[in-house]
Amino acid sequence: PGYNNNVGHDVSDVYDEVHVAGAVLRANATLLMLSRNSDIDAAVRTVKVLEDRFNRNYRYPWVFLNDQPFTEDFKRRVSILTSGPVYFEKILDEHWYHPKWINETLAQEGRRKMEEDGVIYGGSVSYRNMCRFNSGFFYRQPLLQNYKYYWRVEPGAHFHCDANFDPFAFMQENNKVYGFTITLYEIERTIESLWSTVSNFITEHPEFVSPNSAMDFISDDEGESYNLCHFWSNFEIADMDFWRGPAYTAFFDYLESSGGFYYERWGDAPVHSIAAALFGGTDRIHFFREIGYEHFPATHCPTEEELWRLGRCTCDPTHSFDYEGESCLWRWGSLIGQ
Ligand code: GDP
Ligand code: MN
Repeated sequence: PGYNNNVGHDVSDVYDEVHVAGAVLRANATLLMLSRNSDIDAAVRTVKVLEDRFNRNYRYPWVFLNDQPFTEDFKRRVSILTSGPVYFEKILDEHWYHPKWINETLAQEGRRKMEEDGVIYGGSVSYRNMCRFNSGFFYRQPLLQNYKYYWRVEPGAHFHCDANFDPFAFMQENNKVYGFTITLYEIERTIESLWSTVSNFITEHPEFVSPNSAMDFISDDEGESYNLCHFWSNFEIADMDFWRGPAYTAFFDYLESSGGFYYERWGDAPVHSIAAALFGGTDRIHFFREIGYEHFPATHCPTEEELWRLGRCTCDPTHSFDYEGESCLWRWGSLIGQ
């Protein structure tokens, strides 16, 4: 069940080198947006800018997911903007709500304390559902089974530059599993027991750790502790087969069974980042420096004159988040020798 506007082909046609109304789809990929119905105004602005800056030349499909059924109004307003097929799906309840064995007393106590401490979304159940869904379930949705790569797009995010290339094709040609634009520090209070859980997992499963692991990006003491650096997951271009693979599957199950998504407030950003760093490894992660990207309150703007000019970027290249004190990009740079 999807809106097949204009191009008249089915999602199963969206595959390597398929020509769609003049556009060439080179990778098996989709744009992906998780949204509430109430996010509609922000959603359409973001879809429009990404279509204009990138997708009108490629016509990749869009998949929209929601824990509630999308309204007709949401579907109508989105569908006039997209250049490729567009699909809307309600998330399966068991992928959204907490598992039955979660101790609600403990979870409630955790929320109360975190809210008291003034942690953003500290008292929110729906935010925790969302983080757990983005960590371990989105790539299991029926509609996404057809795809390997996705570009995660959030309502309200802004794209500042023309993409004069296909990031999905780049991922495929270079065997990348994870692409980012912004990296920063996590709020420690939300993930107090995450690193000890990760450490126990890799002690039990050393076979999953890449020989080329990016441990030095996420730890300053060879794995003793987490330095809180993570890729900001409101932007992600990544390979779902990596999440579906044995390492991440075992990793997610291990994290899930600890209850930390609910007893604490583990974000999908540190969870994805730690997995990409340890199991994917340095050479399978890519910094998309030419993609000007804004999600409040941070903007990554290409600082290289040539990239900024060719991208016709609307961001200020002298004010990229890359060089802010809260950015972890310098660690990434030193890891890859730049
Ligand atoms: P932040 O970026 O960490 O401040 O979190 P957001 O509020 O932007 O949420 C992240 C993403 O999840 C966005 O795409 C939201 O639209 C989506 N989202 C958050 N909570 C819910 C929810 O309860 N239901 C649905 N359908 N989407 C949600
Ligand atoms: Mn957001």
